[in-house]
Amino acid sequence: MSREFAPEYIQSLKAYSSAKSEKLTGSTWLNANESPYAKEYALNLDNLNRYPDPQPENVINAYARYSNLAGENILMTRGADEGIELLVRTFCQNGKDSIAQFLPTYGMYKVTAESANVALVDLSQALLIDAPQSELLDCVGNAKLVFVCNPNNPTGNVLPLSRIEEIVKAFEDKAIVVVDEAYIEFCEEFTAAGLIEKYQNLVVLRTLSKAFALAGLRTGFVLSNPELINTMRKVLAPYPVSSVVAAIAEQALTSCNISSVKRQVSIINNNRATLINQLSACKHVRKVLPSFANFVTIQLSDKAHIAAAMQSGLIMRPFTLYGEDNWLRISIGSEQELNVVFNWLVEING
Ligand code: PMP
Repeated sequence: MSREFAPEYIQSLKAYSSAKSEKLTGSTWLNANESPYAKEYALNLDNLNRYPDPQPENVINAYARYSNLAGENILMTRGADEGIELLVRTFCQNGKDSIAQFLPTYGMYKVTAESANVALVDLSQALLIDAPQSELLDCVGNAKLVFVCNPNNPTGNVLPLSRIEEIVKAFEDKAIVVVDEAYIEFCEEFTAAGLIEKYQNLVVLRTLSKAFALAGLRTGFVLSNPELINTMRKVLAPYPVSSVVAAIAEQALTSCNISSVKRQVSIINNNRATLINQLSACKHVRKVLPSFANFVTIQLSDKAHIAAAMQSGLIMRPFTLYGEDNWLRISIGSEQELNVVFNWLVEING
């Protein structure tokens, strides 16, 4: 009965479930679009008796250099997921406002909206790709935030910068356009960060979880104009970034490490091309979606093939799309991990 202390809209939610939270057992993990390149970091733990800098200056400055922006354009968060949550809590009124998303897309926009009692306007990716501005405006209605995932998870497609600008412009005085660039390092020429100075209604989300190989660190960044950044700071917890996290993030953003991340990105992009070739040649793979990120999404002829992979310890991310439950998202792992995928393809080819 004690759950009744929570409002009804919270009671009806389900806790976020993932292969990790379900404690699946596996030997090859290609389900969460992580990087295969683990790295070691040095830590000085002398000052843990003190609270950390709420927005660690060295990290903010390093990310400003990396993204060609100023420190005042940047907010450091506990992953891009916290950025999404902050945006909804800052700009949407509980029980009154709505956000728009273009399906299929990243699941946390919905989870965050539902837990904040904010309505969802579900639109299609097709609309996002080429609908005229007037149609977009009509469909989005009064939504306060318009989430555009670019490249999009789970489809892997990317919108050209000219289209992103058209969308941001269309909503100029009406809504904040949030471009989620969690995977942008895999196609960096598409970034919308350069538009931040020009538009007052643009927010870009970034993370160290993907190309920077730090999913375990829980670090993301919100990029926008100082006015929106300062508004979001009003709802930010007092010390959101631990000193330990800040020390590692600072090392990850040195120019030497950024160069190494760039080399890894080009290896991952090459390995993605190889995986796409192998998948396209498999007779049980019905569709392979082109991808600009560190994963590939496919539709299989039969979902039994997915179950067989899971049973053998190869964990990928199955999902339902357009009413069909035979879709699978495969992260680009190391060459050794991808060999496990190739062996699975050989097996199902018979
Ligand atoms: N946005 C997208 C599109 C993602 O796929 C993910 C993680 N899967 C996130 C945001 C969250 O990233 P973080 O680990 O920084 O919270």
